[in-house]
Amino acid sequence: MITHSFLKELGIEVTKFSNDNFMCHCPFHSDIHPSFSISYDGLWICFSCGRKGNLQGLLNLLGRPFLEPKISASDIVCRLESKHQDKKPKGKYYYDYLFYKNNYDHSYMESRGITQETANFFELGYDKIRNGIIFPIYNYMKEFIGYSIRHIYKEPKYQHFSKKILYNENNVNFEEPIYVVEGLIDVLKAYQLGIKNVVGAMGAFINEHQESLLLRFPEIILGFDNDRVGRNSNLEYGKQLTQKFAKVKIVKYPYNIKDFGELTNLDISILPFSKYYMEAHNVY
Ligand SMILES: [Zn+2]
Repeated sequence: MITHSFLKELGIEVTKFSNDNFMCHCPFHSDIHPSFSISYDGLWICFSCGRKGNLQGLLNLLGRPFLEPKISASDIVCRLESKHQDKKPKGKYYYDYLFYKNNYDHSYMESRGITQETANFFELGYDKIRNGIIFPIYNYMKEFIGYSIRHIYKEPKYQHFSKKILYNENNVNFEEPIYVVEGLIDVLKAYQLGIKNVVGAMGAFINEHQESLLLRFPEIILGFDNDRVGRNSNLEYGKQLTQKFAKVKIVKYPYNIKDFGELTNLDISILPFSKYYMEAHNVY
């Protein structure tokens, strides 16, 4: 996504913003009347000298082929507000516009066992510039509040723009037991296995904000990863939530399974849980 500050970094001065385009002085010739137009997704044209192209083409011509736009959630919200000054942000609309949904590259997610149908449900996108899968994030009011990226070639693999929610909280029923898993892909896999009331903590930790949401469910089933950190989290948060009067169970994984995302249909059908935490914590 193109922003004012990104253009500034390229030495291009924005003179006007209209119809989804920035109007600027063309960087390729002496341009007294701004005739260079660039859209939010980086398509540009100069009506004076006739040069045009996509974002990568522009970066190449300016000798900065590897510059990456830095986008914050506030850029996205600004973008939305400029588009719908009279309305509240509507995430899906915004998302469709921003994240090249139609060019979503499914090969990586397929290699992780995620179907196209699941990818569509979670509105996954693909960011060509940063080479990553985009997971739009909504709060339980169904407002778009940011997104996470799963980089395909780069470490750290995940970049979360907001951890103030539980991933998928916009789709869950607060009156049913809730599964809590660690990663975004664990949520997608659970969904595919028929477990729809599931949220992702986006890591092995539950922050205060996430905890207050979890306490609204009648029962919490913790399924952090089956490794040392995850097992500790199951125990620690099991205790913490129980002390706040939640009813908590813990997923007991088959020994060779490393996270929720690795479970199969068969595993799910026979998956054992601990008893409620208070009765069960000493078995660990
Ligand atoms: Zn020009």
